[in-house]
Order: sequence, then C-alpha cells, then structure tokens
Amino acid sequence: MGYNIAVDGPAGAGKSTIARAVAKKKGLIYVDTGAMYRAMALYMLREQIPLDNMERIVEKCEQASITIRYENGEQVVLLNGENVNPFLRTEEVGNAASVISPIPQVREKLRKLQKELAAMSDCIMDGRDIGTCVLPNAQLKIYLTASSQVRAQRRYDELAAKGQEGELNKILQDIEERDYRDIHREESPLKQAEDAVLVDTSDMTVDQVIEVISGLCQHDR
Ligand code: C5P
Repeated sequence: MGYNIAVDGPAGAGKSTIARAVAKKKGLIYVDTGAMYRAMALYMLREQIPLDNMERIVEKCEQASITIRYENGEQVVLLNGENVNPFLRTEEVGNAASVISPIPQVREKLRKLQKELAAMSDCIMDGRDIGTCVLPNAQLKIYLTASSQVRAQRRYDELAAKGQEGELNKILQDIEERDYRDIHREESPLKQAEDAVLVDTSDMTVDQVIEVISGLCQHDR
C-alpha cells in the first residue's frame, strides 16, 4: 500500500482547498471523492430521474461509467467519457449528491474506484467516509470541521468570487440540511474515525491549517 491520508468532514470545512495544497506540498495525488458523487448526481439530473426513486437510481447507476484522469495534477472526472468538471460545483448538484449518496449501490461503485486510486498512488483523499470505510488503514486521518456559520460564510465568499450571488441564510440552511443528511444516514454516515486527528478550522487561516496537516504528514516527496 502507498502512503494515504484520509480527510473527512462536513461540507464547507475546507477539505478540498487544504487537501489540494497539502498534495502539492508533499508530492501526493489529490483524490476528491465528493466530485465522484457529484458526477453521479449530475447524471441522474441530466437523465431526469426523480431523486426519490431509488429503484431507478440504482438501475441508472449501473449505466454510468465514472473514471478519473489527471491533467497537470488536477483531477478530471469523466462521466461516460465526458469531462464533467465544469458542471460539478453548483449547489444543485451538491444537494443532489447528498440525496443519492446514501444508496448502497452508488457507494459501492464509487468506493471501488476510490480504493483502486489509493492502491495505485500516494494520495490525500477527501470525503465523508474515507477514514472510517474507504481507507481504514490510512497512515494519517484528519477530521476537518468548522462551525456551520463559518462554513456558510465561506461558501458565500466562494460564490461571490465567481461573480455569483448567494443568499447567506439560504446557504446556511442548505449546509445544515446537508450535514443532517450526511450525519444521520444509516449507510456510512459522516463521523470522525477513532484514530483521526480533529482539526477545527473556524478560527484558523488556510495557511495555518496546511501547516498543521503537513506537519503531521510523514510522506517525503
Ligand atoms: O464534498 P462535496 O460537497 O463535494 O460532496 C457532495 C456530497 O457527496 C456530500 O454532501 C455527501 O453526501 C456525498 N459524499 C459522500 N461520501 C464521500 C464524499 C461525498 O457521501 N466520500
């Protein structure tokens, strides 16, 4: 097995920003598992499958081919051969991902891909169940969190930076609903692994968080 870091935590805790930066600093590959659930959700939205119709989602899930390619160190998600990265980071797709992600067949399919990637390369992988289910033997596990207010503000700023207008209260409400679904689902809920290091980023800068996690990482590039 290669050197694997598992990063879990709720939406907006800063997982992808931090994992991407630590990957660069430490010579690891960054694996964004949320993007895989988002790609599956995008497929269901495009195919106009009602998100409460579990039977059809399971059926359609089998037809979706999701693979990963790396371009200049960036993860590219291919949905039936198409690069869907430009379509993944909307609130609509994120919320749909959180609705379909409890379905066991969806998780099984994407986990297989995640395990294969981790076995092939030294990586830092972020998600909700990485330390608890996907990579239980990861050399380092981080549980990254922040208060829901801070996370909502970050999403708001992120949208603003892209020239999109968000409504802070609505974003906060979405984040809290998404947390609730991710934490209370029966199938691999979001929770801190017993051997994970808890990092609360509410009052930390991005650089401080990168510093702390890099300091815990034993991988030499
Ligand atoms: O992290 P991101 O916001 O991209 O994830 C979108 C949704 O995908 C999450 O709200 C969660 O429901 C689901 N997810 C998951 N397991 C993972 C990664 C994401 O269930 N490992």
